[in-house]
Amino acid sequence: MRTNFSAGQLADPHLAEAEKQLRACVHCGICTATCPTYTLLGDELDGPRGRIQLIQHMLETDSTPSAKVVSHIDRCLSCLACVSACPSGVNYPRLIDEARAHIERKAARPTARRWLRRALGTVLPDRKKLRLALSLARLGAIAAPVLPKALRIPAETAARFAIHGPAAKTRHHKPETAPAKRVALHVGCVQEVIAPQITASAIRVLTRHGFEVVTVEGTGCCGSLNHHLGQTTEAERHATALVNDIIAEDARRRFDAIVTTASGCATTIRDYGFHITTQDAKHVATRTRDIAEVLKDAPLQPGTAHKGTRVAYHSACSMTHGLKQPGVAPQLLRKLGFDVVEPRDTNCCGSAGVYNVLEPDIAGELQSRKAASLMATEPQLVATGNIGCWAQIKAAVPVPVVHTIELIDWATGGPKPFTS
Ligand code: SF4
Ligand code: SF4
Repeated sequence: MRTNFSAGQLADPHLAEAEKQLRACVHCGICTATCPTYTLLGDELDGPRGRIQLIQHMLETDSTPSAKVVSHIDRCLSCLACVSACPSGVNYPRLIDEARAHIERKAARPTARRWLRRALGTVLPDRKKLRLALSLARLGAIAAPVLPKALRIPAETAARFAIHGPAAKTRHHKPETAPAKRVALHVGCVQEVIAPQITASAIRVLTRHGFEVVTVEGTGCCGSLNHHLGQTTEAERHATALVNDIIAEDARRRFDAIVTTASGCATTIRDYGFHITTQDAKHVATRTRDIAEVLKDAPLQPGTAHKGTRVAYHSACSMTHGLKQPGVAPQLLRKLGFDVVEPRDTNCCGSAGVYNVLEPDIAGELQSRKAASLMATEPQLVATGNIGCWAQIKAAVPVPVVHTIELIDWATGGPKPFTS
């Protein structure tokens, strides 16, 4: 597409990158049919091609977007299905991220929404605040019928989860066998509060198979949640702290890889080099892997108790379109002896960071469709590799939902992660 930015605007590297992506878009619309919000709402402006046009106008004119434009941009899930579909290689995240940051700087959202976004960006990345907020949300959920929608949805969402207290954690975990590799394991924010068993499983699996593990966390968040809210300063603060933590440990121990158990976090960390231009950030970005990628060639030693268990595997959008590794985890589970089935619906489950709180109607519809598609495979349980999907699907299906690493743990000598 032709663009019309001034030389002054193009001196900003983020705008220059956005312009490059705008020029790459030939407006063919091939991405449109793959977009969950377009297929649900049927409005061109709720699809990637329409949003790209809105973003171009907003950035070129450096204007304050109308409430209508903001809502079309806000309704994007950042699922990246359009990126996988695009034959011209348009890097859509460079556009939507720039648009979100622009809106955050310029647009005046309604007060309740502004406060909700601020609260989500402040509380979720901080485990202490999150524990407190979840406790309060339980009280809020009791009062839900009389609360305004802006408070009722977050209160009801939060009240669904068990709250786990902070556990004394050893940072350094020696392998059970001769050390084969040394990895930094990223311990995230929300996951540690609502599902700490995932990190525990990851440590057991890694050390059982010869990995020396050092947990790293920075502030406790990789910055992904703030990033998707357009809160760039906070996102960079979290990212910088995590990079510094990893680099300090790396200087002592020389990691072979940096591992995450949330593909959403892995996708964000792999992009650090663009947002923070230091060599350290680039070093961390290029060496970050999802745990399924790290284990795919490891000599796993399966037992027999789990064999034949029918697992419906949901590939998170971040795994499919962000890391582009949709087949790794199901192949790994099959290799271990699970009977893995995959749903026909490959769309986003509606979690998408805090999307399910901010856009509950669309998120709820996507959640219902995903649950129906997963249950149509008649599974004994559902597995996924991203905490947001785990929580979203758990609230909608009548079978247990576990993280992939919990199944790998069970299959190789760890505890069974569900009751049946
Ligand atoms: S498929 Fe790519 S080039 Fe075509 S409209 Fe979508 S983003 Fe633009
Ligand atoms: S990221 Fe997902 S929701 Fe957003 S425009 Fe692309 S396909 Fe649509």
